[in-house]
Amino acid sequence: MRYVSTRGGVAPQRFSDILLEGLAPDGGLYVPEAYPQADLAAWRGMSYPALACAVLSRFIDDVPALEALVRRTYTRAAFGSDDIVPLKTLEPGLHLLALSNGPTLAFKDLALQLLGNLFEQVLAARKASLNILGATSGDTGSAAEHAMRGKRGIQVFMLSPQGRMSAFQSAQMYALQDANIHNLAVKGTFDDCQDLVKAINADAAFKTRYRIGAVNSINWARVAAQVVYYFWGYFRATASDAQQVAFAVPSGNFGNIHAGYVARSMGLPVERLILATNENDVLDEFFRSGRYRVRRAALATSSPSMDISKASNFERYVFDLVGRDAGQVAHLWRKLERVGEFELQGSAGFVSGRSTHADRLETIRQVHRKYGVMIDPHTADGVKVGLARRVAGVPLICLETALPVKFAATIREALGREPARPAGFEDLEKRPQRFEVIDADADAVKRVIERQAAAR
Ligand SMILES: *Cc1c(COP(=O)(O)O)cnc(C)c1O
Repeated sequence: MRYVSTRGGVAPQRFSDILLEGLAPDGGLYVPEAYPQADLAAWRGMSYPALACAVLSRFIDDVPALEALVRRTYTRAAFGSDDIVPLKTLEPGLHLLALSNGPTLAFKDLALQLLGNLFEQVLAARKASLNILGATSGDTGSAAEHAMRGKRGIQVFMLSPQGRMSAFQSAQMYALQDANIHNLAVKGTFDDCQDLVKAINADAAFKTRYRIGAVNSINWARVAAQVVYYFWGYFRATASDAQQVAFAVPSGNFGNIHAGYVARSMGLPVERLILATNENDVLDEFFRSGRYRVRRAALATSSPSMDISKASNFERYVFDLVGRDAGQVAHLWRKLERVGEFELQGSAGFVSGRSTHADRLETIRQVHRKYGVMIDPHTADGVKVGLARRVAGVPLICLETALPVKFAATIREALGREPARPAGFEDLEKRPQRFEVIDADADAVKRVIERQAAAR
């Protein structure tokens, strides 16, 4: 399997060559040259780790001992059950796919836990090391740290806005005691943190000298890892490969639902992909009207992990929509930079909808009342839009992207009670914390990285 850029300016690459990169050098995203085809009959009866090996080996063909690496990633110890991703049936034909039982209780663990093991192995084979630099408003940072903790050849420097995350979110990062994890609590906002990362990446000499890398949402390995659970959910929710299903996906950067689109392109019988946004409705607008219009800034909502002003993975989908014409993609993105929008018709197999704070509260209440199940605000956006756009006779699988305990304030507002805590998280906020407070100043961040490199 080889990978090409959506902007067409790069020779086809092997998987291990694109693994450690973010954007392609021409500014595009890497996509597989062609979609491999699924073998539904052979895959239906497999365990989650076996299915993950079957799916991932179609995308990754140059990492030695991939199967052992995948089996070491998807374990009961890390994900709480042998199913890894259990399917919970609310009523016949309506299911929740529980993606949030990994170490940080959000679906990003499913991709990042694999990425941590892939990075470690590929770096070791190249006798190389990497300093991962990132900014987080809460969720992605903790999933990345838990994926990279203790990995040989990797140091993580994670910038977070001091005092602006929930106590639970900061404890998920700051309570890590691993020597290769460096939490930098920045005196500023999340935007300040992002600007610092940009400033450091713009310093090419520093970036090369200290081998600065990232674990951003556009990494192809993350999309590939997410393809697996669409197949898994389908097999659990259907009795035969003749049946079709629908998936409802709470969306932000279009990574999760793009994996569903890839699964369908591989032959998974998906009747429709239902995309849900919150008040940040860039993608809902596109799938309703064909108009892709990026926003100046995202609104802060009660489903914060979907608060985006543009969707970083969307270009992969557009590449297919224009018939894999890289020149056309480059043209559209130039237009986007110039006028902030473009129009493109023809999205088949997707429907969308938008959810508000009031909808989230009502959906959390409704699911709790009817089924006795507590869902988090992001999952609620998906359920709300999924129920509105489902079709009779087609099973609906709603992706659960986080556990309610991560968003306790909204659960209290909806239900007037505390969300349940999974085992092992009872004392999280009381554990000793490890972080360094720094000014919102790129030189201060660089000094931390230099000091660390000198100490090794
Ligand atoms: C990241 C995230 C999303 C959005 O997923 P995308 O892949 O960015 O579309 C939704 N819900 C939760 C809880 C998340 O952490």
